[in-house]
Amino acid sequence: MKKKKLSDKDLSKFSGMSNIDLETLHSLDKLGALDVVSIHSILIKSEYKRLVGEGKYTCKQVAEALANEYGISRYRVETLIYNKETSKSFYCKECGGEMTRYKFSKNKGVCDNCIISNIGKSI
Ligand SMILES: [Zn+2]
Repeated sequence: MKKKKLSDKDLSKFSGMSNIDLETLHSLDKLGALDVVSIHSILIKSEYKRLVGEGKYTCKQVAEALANEYGISRYRVETLIYNKETSKSFYCKECGGEMTRYKFSKNKGVCDNCIISNIGKSI
């Protein structure tokens, strides 16, 4: 899967929602300081609400269109919208701490705290 990036369109939408000016967002984005997945999920949720609210499309059509736009599966869009992820817990393999499914799959089952302390050992 290709690495997700924030497009100019994403940044300007997010700027409007967050009241952070576009120039600042562009600088942060260049530094890699923005969490692409979180921003995409915020945008997806707001676009979904807006488009479904217009009453012209079905929930399924809107979810499908957003999935295409953001290069993720429709299931993933629906998961974001209905917060399905919170219903199931995932636990760190090292310390047993609770973590999100996203973190669990991204970090191969190890929580941020454990990763950070592992990095600390090698500094
Ligand atoms: Zn841990």
